[in-house]
Amino acid sequence: MSDGEPTDTATIQKRPLFGATADEARAWLAAVGHKPYRLKQIHQWAFHRRPKSFADMTDLPLDLRNKLDAEWDLFATRVAYRGVADDGTDKLLLRCRDGRNVECVLMADGPRRTVCVSTQVGCAMGCVFCASGLKGVERSLTAAETFDQVLQAQQLLPPGESVTHIVVMGMGESLANLDNLLVALDRVCSPDDGLGMSQRRVTISTVGLPAKIRKLAEQDRQYRLAVSLHAPTEELRDQLVPVNEKIGLTAVMEAADDYFRATGRRVTYEYVMLGGVNDRPRHATALGRLLKGRKAHVNLIPYNPVAGLPFVRPEPEDVRRFQATVQDFGVAVTVRRTKGRAIDAACGQLRRRYESAAEGAAAVVAIDS
Ligand code: SAH
Repeated sequence: MSDGEPTDTATIQKRPLFGATADEARAWLAAVGHKPYRLKQIHQWAFHRRPKSFADMTDLPLDLRNKLDAEWDLFATRVAYRGVADDGTDKLLLRCRDGRNVECVLMADGPRRTVCVSTQVGCAMGCVFCASGLKGVERSLTAAETFDQVLQAQQLLPPGESVTHIVVMGMGESLANLDNLLVALDRVCSPDDGLGMSQRRVTISTVGLPAKIRKLAEQDRQYRLAVSLHAPTEELRDQLVPVNEKIGLTAVMEAADDYFRATGRRVTYEYVMLGGVNDRPRHATALGRLLKGRKAHVNLIPYNPVAGLPFVRPEPEDVRRFQATVQDFGVAVTVRRTKGRAIDAACGQLRRRYESAAEGAAAVVAIDS
């Protein structure tokens, strides 16, 4: 693992060009006396090349480059910290214009280049094993800040490589910020104003907000839905996922079934395995019964330890047995490999460590201690 790269921590004053809509950017180009087709060139830089500044955009006239530099920034965020793990996982802490930090992770797996994006600073859901919600939610991210994470991650890839998949599994409750998320994902998937990614390669993970799941289903999009279940019974889910007390497991399952009916897309159920808490054979049997007959896919996620929380990772043998038991009910089950553990690549962990260690100081974090 490398040392973190200290980076610029100055606050951002100018507007982010790559976060501007095509209409905004074209209106500005017209106002400064340049042709609309310049936007195509700028987008080429934004989405397919690796510009560090407007000065890099040498196919634009010098006058335009200077005007751009005077009025715009490239990105909506700045890289406050970058950590690289041995397995190639890159974790970015991105500083928003108001000084708040968000996490974004780039993972390489075979030909896949997956970016895990955040939707909020903090989280209001309060899942008891998760670092993101320990201090509640500060605010939702704008569409530009959400889209920016994908662009910033893309900058880390060698020229010629592109982000191939997106998982909305970073900090925050994705569907609590659905409107902005949809704008950001539309840009990611737009062949003209974005990366042209297939909607089928985008997964949105949610704690399970039924009304929002249905709203997402009505969007006529092909996004994959992942529901963070974590428990097969009301009682246990109430303990692990406190918002369940108001929502209820049955309502979550009904909304997920509706999503499948509306989109034809098989729903993934995420299940964080907490040693001794929800990884016992009886939990596996109950989960198998719950999902039996549904077009479902279970993703078991061995708990990633969070400092100060009382949970432990499950024993590998328990994970295998759990998987086999659920599979016996005819349900597809995969176990998520832990990536980037040494760089705190689980929801909210990097930001938490960074902010408690640095508390306003420069980006000096003993991240591999
Ligand atoms: N709020 C959304 C998306 C963010 S969390 C949701 O609840 O799905 C993305 C996934 O990571 C969720 O399944 C979440 O429960 C899981 N997760 C959170 N903290 C974790 C930890 N410490 N170890 C393993 N998985 C964790």
